[in-house]
Amino acid sequence: MSDMSSTSSAAQGEVRTVLVTGASRGIGREVARALALSGHRVIAVARSQAALEALDDEVRAAGGNPLTLVPLDLKDGAAIDQLGAALFERWGRLDGLVAAAGVLGVLGPLQTVPPSEFDQTVAVNFTANWRLIRSLDPLLRASSAGRVVFVSSGVARRPRGFWGVYAATKAALESMALAYADETRNMALRVNLFNPGPTRTAMRARAFPGEDPMTLPTAAEVAAALLPMLAPDWHETGTLVSFTRS
Ligand code: NDP
Repeated sequence: MSDMSSTSSAAQGEVRTVLVTGASRGIGREVARALALSGHRVIAVARSQAALEALDDEVRAAGGNPLTLVPLDLKDGAAIDQLGAALFERWGRLDGLVAAAGVLGVLGPLQTVPPSEFDQTVAVNFTANWRLIRSLDPLLRASSAGRVVFVSSGVARRPRGFWGVYAATKAALESMALAYADETRNMALRVNLFNPGPTRTAMRARAFPGEDPMTLPTAAEVAAALLPMLAPDWHETGTLVSFTRS
């Protein structure tokens, strides 16, 4: 974990610490950016160190809080465990988790999906989120208002042909997130799902190459709709919030 943070100690008692996966691009990047610009301490996770550094540069230039950058492959469960331990040592608690990282995998008839692609899609979209719960749960419980948002997809509840593996990983994620919400219902922790809907990102462009991206909401617009779910005054748990363009 490379600590890029220089938050003043005077402000530390007030600052909420939020970990964002998928922070190198798309929706996760915009969530991380908006949080850092609004005074949060952000732990930004993705594989691409260069993209994380570019985000940190952008945030600093705009006067936001420097990010803590964690270049990490979420398929590496042991690294997720180490991250939890490092955060525990550094801050002792975590006030928010936004699990936005995801992969599309291979779209196509189920029998044509290569086993390695199947495994990777399950590993990133589902297993990694369980490893995050396992590693970060004690930290989230230590917060007076821990907030968790798992980013899902419309296909989790409306499965369709050629999207079988991706849709199944999101359905599994939703089921797990709702179980976690139920397990923590009597605590300060709140756990919810967010469905962005079609969003102007690299993932969407790969899924729908013929579509005009300019017809879609930007990742920043969509991220803005997720942010209230991280606030201490967000009280619902076990719900799905779907983005709708105003
Ligand atoms: P992008 O493809 O733009 O971004 C995906 C992010 O996930 C990147 O930051 C990427 O970082 C990270 N990521 C992927 N694999 C790994 C890995 N193995 N380890 C660590 N990080 C990883 O996707 P979107 O922003 O479009 O999607 C964000 C979320 O929203 C996803 O969960 C997606 O399923 C969901 N969603 C998106 C929709 C859309 O229309 N865009 C619609 C519905 C749901 P890096 O490559 O640097 O590791």
